Parts: sequence; C-alpha cells; structure tokens
Amino acid sequence: MAKRSITETSPIEVYRLLPRTNCAECGEPNCMAFATRLVNRELALESCPPLAHPEYAEALAALEALLAPPVRAVLIGTGDRECTIGGKYVVQRHEFTYHNPTACAIAVDDSAPLDVLQARVRAADSFSYNYIGRDLGIDAIAVRSTTGDPARFQAAVEAVQQACGLPLILCSPDPAVLRSGLVSASDRRPLIHAADRTNWQEMGGLALEFGCPLVVSAPDDLSGLRSLVRTFLAWGIEDLVLDPGTFPGAGLARTLRNFARCRHAAIRGEDDLLGFPLLGAPIAAFAGEEMDPIRCAFDEAITASALLSRYADLLVLQGTAGWSLLPTLFWRFNLYTDPRKPVAVEAGLREFGSPDRNAPVLITANYALTYFTVESDIKSANLSCYLVVADTGGLSVESAVAGRYFSAAGIAEAMASSGIADRVDHRVLVIPGLAARLSGEAAEATGWRVLVGPKDSSGLGPYLKERWPPGPA
Ligand code: SF4
Repeated sequence: MAKRSITETSPIEVYRLLPRTNCAECGEPNCMAFATRLVNRELALESCPPLAHPEYAEALAALEALLAPPVRAVLIGTGDRECTIGGKYVVQRHEFTYHNPTACAIAVDDSAPLDVLQARVRAADSFSYNYIGRDLGIDAIAVRSTTGDPARFQAAVEAVQQACGLPLILCSPDPAVLRSGLVSASDRRPLIHAADRTNWQEMGGLALEFGCPLVVSAPDDLSGLRSLVRTFLAWGIEDLVLDPGTFPGAGLARTLRNFARCRHAAIRGEDDLLGFPLLGAPIAAFAGEEMDPIRCAFDEAITASALLSRYADLLVLQGTAGWSLLPTLFWRFNLYTDPRKPVAVEAGLREFGSPDRNAPVLITANYALTYFTVESDIKSANLSCYLVVADTGGLSVESAVAGRYFSAAGIAEAMASSGIADRVDHRVLVIPGLAARLSGEAAEATGWRVLVGPKDSSGLGPYLKERWPPGPA
C-alpha cells in the first residue's frame, strides 16, 4: 500500500499520540501547538521530553512511523560539522518546504602531494560567500583513490583529517583501499563510496564493521540498484545512499530521468527500495573526452544545477573557482529557502560611514535582497547616511507598497521606533522611488518633509550629490 504523503498528515493525528498533558516542556504552550509545528517539521519529536518515558514507547514508535520521510535521512560526519542528507517528503517544493539542503563535496585525489592536497582542502573548508546575509560554503570532502595504493590512500585521508573537520566521503572501487582509509577515519563516520555489483560483499562488510553509511552504485541500472539495496537491507545496513550514475553532456537527460524515477517512486510510496538519498557526481564532467578545463568546469556547473533541481541530495564537485561553484551554491540557497517565508533582515536603524546630525535619512524594505543591494550601493558610493529598515514582512519595496505592507503608517512607525529623530537635526526623509506614491501620505503621517529618491539604489550616490543638503521646501 502506498504511504500517505506528509501533506496528508494532520496535526490532530499527531496530537492524539502525544502525552497531551500540556506541560509546556517543549517550549510550546500546549500539545496541539507542538503537534502543528511537528507536522510542519519545525520541531522534532526529541523536543518533547515526556515522550522518552517508557509509558509512551508505543506512541513514540507510532509517531516515528507517521512522521518518517519516504526518503531516509542519512547522517555523514560527526560533531559540529556533521551533515544530514535526504529526509525528503515531497517531490515539488510548493507541496512542502524542502529540508536538508543538498550537501556539496569537493573532491581531492590521493595522487596529489600531501601539502598540495591539504592546501586544496583548507581552501574548500574556508570557502565562504555572503549572499543576502547568509554564508554559503562547502559541506564535505570526497577523498578519491586514483593511485589504487592503500598506503597512499590512508596517508591522504589522514592529511585531509588534519587539515579540516568536514565530513568525508571515501571513494574507491577497491575494498582493500577503502579499508585503509576507514581504519584512520571511521570515528568521523565517513560515507563509503561505493558498493557495486562487483564488490558488494566486501563493501557491505566494511559498512557493518565500521558502522558507516554506504553508497550503492549501479550506473544507469535502476533494477540493479534495487537489487543491491534489497540485499543490504536484508543484512541490516540501512544507512544507504544511491548513486544511479551521472553522465554529463549528452547523457544529462538520461541522468535526470534516472534521478527523477528514483525520487518519484520513493515519494509516491511505490518503491521503498529507492527511498534513499541520491548522490550526483557532476565531477564526471572532468572525466570525458573534453580536455579543456574551463569547458569541463562549465559542464560540471550545468550538471550540478540540473541535479540540484532534480533531487540530488549530495553532489561531488571538482571545480572550486567562484564562477563555477557559486551558481550551484546560489541555486541551492534559493531552492531550499522556504517560499512561505521571504528572506528578511531585522528591521531597525543602520548607520553607514560617519553620519553627522545633517546626514541624509533613507528608508527601505526589510526584504534581504533589497536591503543588501541598498547596503552595497551605499557603501560603493561611499555615503555617510542613516538607513531606516522598515518591517515589510520580508517583501521588496514594490510588492510591499502594492500589498500595503509598506504604507505611510508603516513608514511613520518605522521612523518612530528607529529613534532617528534624536540622531539628526533636520526632518527630511528620502523614500525609494518605487514608493513615490506614498510621498504625500508619508509626509502627513511622519511630519517630515519627504523626498522621492531613485527607483534603483545604484542611483543614490548621484542623487544625494545633487539633492543633499536639500534646499528650502
Ligand atoms: S512537552 Fe510534550 S507533553 Fe508537554 S506540552 Fe509539549 S508536546 Fe505536550
């Protein structure tokens, strides 16, 4: 029988299985509120301490079954840097917010000198890009054996561990090579890559012996993949990751078809054997006939973006140049942002440069993309000014004006709560050009003289140069 979708699970069903004592130990006012947040995946069962009591063991098991994702969540790594992949409930993002963003791993080879390898690992670990207030970075390191030498692989794994604390993926088709890496790194719970139809017995043995998650690989062969998964489940190995094969370039459509088949079958409850996280390897773009590294990195970025959209839970990448890596990280950020909750910054007063009591006062919306664009334009124009950030519910200026989230009353409230009147001697406010139609009402509501600024904040520098200080009204 097909499993029910998470969107069909009601808070009432969950509530009936909770202790229903309304003790508030979970931080929620009552069990019903907890059930609602549980169904929305905003809280976990562990947040209800009474459920750990033996008398609720049966209810807990029922809740776990009710809330279990059709795609199993698999943990890689340990401690602060551990990452969870999979745990998906839906195919489309509009059905239910995506959880557990796709992990991005950078590959290193054991053929590289150890100091070079460590430098690459440190660069990957420290890679960080601030995108509308969020730091985007790398989640794991894939150590690949290209030498086939167990001693060399072990040295590479140890060097990587010394250089960073990121979760590891140990990659080799040879169980003897992987064993040497696992001996050094098993306490970091690395992901073993990969068991296939030639080595599955030895690889399954390694997964059991070291207690690590295992990748099951069957390129372009879903029935072979299912067969291997069935075997491993019978062995009691449940932390599995599926690798249905990645074929960049002309094979990309075939790759996406396989990924989509796995995910659709799992989410619709048609095939539990495919209900595991999916591993994509855009790095395969570097293994084809194309020898131009720029072209390979371009193909890798395209493959990565396509696989992000089509259900990959883990990507193994080669390119670390910003131009090839950032599109993947941006797309992941956008894909995994809850569409119901616009990305917002905190409302309040911001100060730029060294504003004095005659400095310009600007106002904008608290949509993150708007705010960081305005901030960047103010900084690049080297302006000294005050910026009042109004709470527009995370909407951009134009949308907020249309939806009346940015209104004359809202501007007056933002101005009052920011305390800006105490910071300047004048009473002149510059509003965004996209809110021009509010100028009259805003002047009335605030008692300030209102100037209409440019529609695009990149025009703030020239605008203020020409219009500030403002002449008499
Ligand atoms: S801790 Fe558990 S029992 Fe107590 S209110 Fe929260 S959900 Fe209910």
